[in-house]
Amino acid sequence: MEQFLIERKEQAMKKVLVLEDESSIRSFIVINLRRAGYEVVEAETGEEALEKLKEHTDVRVALLDIMLPGIDGFEVCRRIRKAGNTPVMMLTAKGETFDKVLGLELGADDYMVKPFDAKEVTARIKAVLRRSSAKEEENKGVYDFDNLHLDMNRYELK
Ligand code: CA
Repeated sequence: MEQFLIERKEQAMKKVLVLEDESSIRSFIVINLRRAGYEVVEAETGEEALEKLKEHTDVRVALLDIMLPGIDGFEVCRRIRKAGNTPVMMLTAKGETFDKVLGLELGADDYMVKPFDAKEVTARIKAVLRRSSAKEEENKGVYDFDNLHLDMNRYELK
């Protein structure tokens, strides 16, 4: 029980952005994430997603659909990458193999092929979040100035 409460508490602090123009798919993801204890920010278009990301700077992971009415998911991914390190998960349709590769080349952290089930969504998000917090932990105490690289964890100066 205690473990369960701790997990709920951890997840409550984790805000997820869901960008998907198809409202039935979006609601499906949103409902399941909320049920799993995540806080969710929804967007229907790429433009809206970028606006909301500016507003909610504490979003920990962004789920991006690719085919959208305005700018597409790849462009949104590109702009998120330019702005910072927020982990990105692309939502691809069946058979978009090329798109998957492109998504990862763009700096996406993971992708999911539609249709997916609720358990897969929450499990994959959990994994992405775990990896990104491990990365943050690793980067703690590492500083770069010009040509100098200082790693306090390894007592290294290059
Ligand atoms: Ca779509």
